[in-house]
Amino acid sequence: MLQVGDGNGSGGRRNPLAGKRVFIPPMAYGSGRTFAAAFHALGLEADITPPSDSRTRELGARYTSGDECYPAKVTVGDFMKVLEQPGTDPAQTVLFMPTADGPCRFGQYAPYLRRILEESGYPHTSVISPSSHDGYADFGDLARQFVRTAWRALIAADILQKVLLQHRPHEAEKGSTEALYEECLVDVCQTIERAPLEPGTQLKAIRDAMVRSRDRFRAHPVRRDRSTPLIGIVGEIFCRLHCFSNEDLVRRLEEYEAEAWISDITEWVWYTIQEQFRKLQLVGRQYSLDAFKAWIRKRVQKHDEHVLLEPFRDDFVGYEEPPVEEVLEAARPYLPADGAMGEMVLNVGKAICLARKGADGIIDISPFTCMNGIVCEAVYPRVSRDLGGIPIRNFYFDGTQSDLDRDLGVYLELARNYQKRKRWQRAWPAGV
Ligand code: SF4
Repeated sequence: MLQVGDGNGSGGRRNPLAGKRVFIPPMAYGSGRTFAAAFHALGLEADITPPSDSRTRELGARYTSGDECYPAKVTVGDFMKVLEQPGTDPAQTVLFMPTADGPCRFGQYAPYLRRILEESGYPHTSVISPSSHDGYADFGDLARQFVRTAWRALIAADILQKVLLQHRPHEAEKGSTEALYEECLVDVCQTIERAPLEPGTQLKAIRDAMVRSRDRFRAHPVRRDRSTPLIGIVGEIFCRLHCFSNEDLVRRLEEYEAEAWISDITEWVWYTIQEQFRKLQLVGRQYSLDAFKAWIRKRVQKHDEHVLLEPFRDDFVGYEEPPVEEVLEAARPYLPADGAMGEMVLNVGKAICLARKGADGIIDISPFTCMNGIVCEAVYPRVSRDLGGIPIRNFYFDGTQSDLDRDLGVYLELARNYQKRKRWQRAWPAGV
């Protein structure tokens, strides 16, 4: 973890988080790291919470009632682990809990966490939930720099994760991909931390770090085999990306010699932007100042994504992420985006897009009792039938999974059978 200054950033301005230490629950390990680096770039102290373990579950169970979703339990457990660490000053500790509008309980996590802290003897520990509704007030006058830097950090992490999953199942030397990924992650994080906040200079520096990462991976020896089944992973955003919560499902798939394509974090960001336009249109404000601002923001974000992704264009042939408009359109016959909201729409749409990209199977990872997972599970049989029988399987997690290996083994047999008769063939990067 980097120790950094007084929260003055490069502009010498104060920030409400100055002198505090922010803890971020890493949904995906890499994005947690780069996101922390975005805080460092502003001169703020931040780190990801330590790896989840049995103590996480123990504390999560102790401080929650049992009615909460599994991700809430895991994050509460991880935060409480931080607070019980010797040397932690609760009054100087800030817990980062994202929030979102939507049809499910996610929006309740932050107020709920505040209540737990209050009732458990940590009234001075703060919770931040950066939101566009209050102009990211937690970041004071560094809000704009933070939002842009954090967005770039998330894109970079998503790209690295994609390359990792593309290479790891085929590595010539066991463990080499993971080591290389870590090397790239350190490089990208240091670049984010040290680059000037001036937007153009910062973007160029992060792009250069991504090019270095790409070149390292291009030189990494792999033995790719076109018959390796490709499994699309969709589902609840935290559970599908948090390896501890999903019992390392992707790695277990790889042990069965399959490759995973997991829906990333930026997909959710694009969805929320799309939703913003839809809601403005619903109330007849599609030509308002808010709509104009949202349009500008989207253009800027698209530009950043394009710049960071462009160096990987050849590497990602056949792995191109479908635009959110395409995902929502694909879901429309099953869950129209103007009638259903949130991850269920994305999951169904993405499952279809991945099938059309030549995936051999789809796995939906959700916390036990997650309403998104339950709705999707009801829709998947029809989706599968319409896609020529692609196997789509829900896996639910609550920390008590027991037969995952056996279930994955059976599932992959179905995927291999489907592979022989699938309607859509894959495109491949050159040389594979
Ligand atoms: S998406 Fe599922 S797990 Fe996440 S808050 Fe909503 S209901 Fe809970």
